[in-house]
Amino acid sequence: MKIDQVSDSVYVVAGTNVNWALVSDDRGVTVVDAGYPADTAAVLSSVSQIGHQLGDIAAVLVTHAHLDHIGAIPALVERAGVPVYTGAEEVRHAKREYLQQITPLQMVGQLGSRRGAVWVAQTLRACVGHIGMSVPTAVAADAETLAALPGGFVAVPTPGHTNGHTAYFMPSEGVLFSGDALVTGHPIARETGLQLLPGVFNHDEPGALASARSLADLGAEVMVPGHGLPIREDLPALLGAFAKS
Ligand SMILES: [Zn+2]
Repeated sequence: MKIDQVSDSVYVVAGTNVNWALVSDDRGVTVVDAGYPADTAAVLSSVSQIGHQLGDIAAVLVTHAHLDHIGAIPALVERAGVPVYTGAEEVRHAKREYLQQITPLQMVGQLGSRRGAVWVAQTLRACVGHIGMSVPTAVAADAETLAALPGGFVAVPTPGHTNGHTAYFMPSEGVLFSGDALVTGHPIARETGLQLLPGVFNHDEPGALASARSLADLGAEVMVPGHGLPIREDLPALLGAFAKS
C-alpha cells in the first residue's frame, strides 16, 4: 500500500493493482472505491494513516461494482455502518441482478503472456473466497447527498466499462475520480498514460470510448484513476488530446 496526497483533501492509495481514494475534510472522510477483498485490511489501515477513525467515514462512493473496487465494503458496513452509494444503474450490478465482469474463460485467455499470467495469479489471490460477493446495501445517491459528503461530489455517468459506471468530480479542488472509465495503466497493458482499459474488461467498448472522451469537458485539474498513477500536471491538455484521438 502506498498513499499519495494529490490535493489538499485527496489521498490516493495504491493497493493490489488497483487504487482507492480517501477524501478528508472537516465533515469527515469519503472513501472512493474499496480495493479487492484482500485489500480490506489495507483500506481500513489507510483511513487511520491519514489521521481518521472508521467512525469518521461518511460514505463509500463506488464507481462500479467489480471485485477490485468493492472488496472492503463488507467490513466498512459491518464495522462502521458506512452507507454505500453508486450510480442508479450500477446499484443493480452491485446487487448482482446481472454481472458484467471478465469471465473465467477470458481470464484463462490472459495466461498466454507472462504479464497476463502474473496478473491472473495476483487477481485470484486477491479475490479468493469472495468471488461471489455482492453489495446488498448499495443505493443510488442523489445530487444533494453527493454534494454534502466530505469533499462534495458531482456524479458523472460514464457507461461502457459497465452499464452503470459512474465517475465522480469534486469541484472544490478540481479532482476527477475516473474509476475504470479512463485509466493511466494496468498490469496487462503495454503502455502507461491516458487510456481505456484493455477491451476484455469493457462491457461496451464504443460506449466506454465515448464516456472517456466526454471527461475532457469537466475542467478537471487532477485525475485519480482506478488503475495507474494519478495525473496532476497538464491534465486539461492531456484530456483534450485524448478526446480528439
Ligand atoms: Zn478496476
